[in-house]
Amino acid sequence: MIPQYSFVIPVYNEESNLPQLYRRLVAVRDRVEGEVEIILINDGSRDRTLSILRDLHAKDPHVCYLSLARNFGHQIAVTAGLNFARGQAIIVMDADLQDPPELALEMIQRWQQGYQVVYAQRSKRHKEGWMKRLPAYAFYRLLKRLADIEIPLDTGDFCLIDRQVADILNKMPEQNRYVRGLRSWVGFKQTAIRFERDPRFSGEVKYTFGKSFAFAMNGLISFSRVPLRLSTYVGLFAAVVALIMAFMVLYWRIIAPDSPLTGFATILIAVFFLGAVQLVSIGILGEYIGRIYEEVKGRPLYVLSEVGGFERSIEG
Ligand code: UDP
Ligand code: MG
Repeated sequence: MIPQYSFVIPVYNEESNLPQLYRRLVAVRDRVEGEVEIILINDGSRDRTLSILRDLHAKDPHVCYLSLARNFGHQIAVTAGLNFARGQAIIVMDADLQDPPELALEMIQRWQQGYQVVYAQRSKRHKEGWMKRLPAYAFYRLLKRLADIEIPLDTGDFCLIDRQVADILNKMPEQNRYVRGLRSWVGFKQTAIRFERDPRFSGEVKYTFGKSFAFAMNGLISFSRVPLRLSTYVGLFAAVVALIMAFMVLYWRIIAPDSPLTGFATILIAVFFLGAVQLVSIGILGEYIGRIYEEVKGRPLYVLSEVGGFERSIEG
C-alpha cells in the first residue's frame, strides 16, 4: 500500500492526549479519499506514550511509529517523520490537539488546487498566557524583518507539504532544523489557512520558556546574518563617537584651556560600554561558530531505537 496522505506527529510525553488524538484523526481519515498513514514519532517520552503507540499500531496497521533513542527535540522528531513518510501530501501537526486535525481537510483541498505548501496561520491563541503570546508575537515580527527569506508571521509547524517539498527537505543536511523556515526557503506555491489555536487538550507544555528562547535564537541565527553585522555597525558607531570626543578634548586643550576637564566618569563609561559591546559581539560570533561546529561534526540527526510499520529498519 502506498498512502496518498501521511500525518507526521511528534509526541513527547503525551499519553493523555493520544486516545483523543487518534479518535479525531480516524474521523478525519474517514472523510478523505485515498489511503492515509499516521506516523507518530516518540521523542524519548518517559511516560506510557511508546506502549500506547505499539498498541495503536497493533490495532490499526495504518498507524506507524518511530521511536527516537532519546529526546532529540520537536524539530528533529518532525524531521524523522518526514524522512519516513510515504504519502504524496504530508501533514505535520502537534499531538496535543492544539492543531485541529479537521483543518487537514481544508489543507488537502488547497493542495488539490495546486499548492505545494499549505501552512496554518494562527489568528488567535486561546488560553495561552501573555508570557507566551507576547514574546512569540515580538519574535515573529523581528524574524520577519531580519530573515533573508520571507517567513510568514505567526505560523508554526502545522502544515501540509507536497511530496516534492518533502524530498527537498529530506535532502537538506542541516543539523539545526528550523522546519518552518526551511519550508519557506523551498518556495513553490505556498498559501495560508487562518485558524484559531485551541488550548492544549491535556498534559503539560513541553516548550518551557528556556526552550522557546533557544528555539527562537536558533530560528534567527539560522535565517539571518544581521546579528553578525550588528557588531560592525555598533563598532563603527563607537569609532565615530570616539573621534568626536577626541576633537572635543583637543578643542578644550588648545582653544579653550580654561574649561574644566572632568574626564574620569566619561572614561569609565566609555570603557564599560566598549567592553559590553565587545563581549556581546563575541557572544554573537560564538553562536554562529557553535553552529558551524555542530554542522562540521556531521552526526546523524537522530537515532532510532524502534520502528513499527516500516520496512526500513532502524539502521535507516
Ligand atoms: N514535542 C516533541 N519533543 C519535545 C517537545 C515537544 O516531540 O522535546 C512535541 C509535543 O509532544 C507536541 C509538539 O511537539 O506534540 C509541540 O509541543 P508543545 O505543545 O509543548 O509546544 P507548544 O504547542 O507550546 O508550541
Ligand atoms: Mg502545544
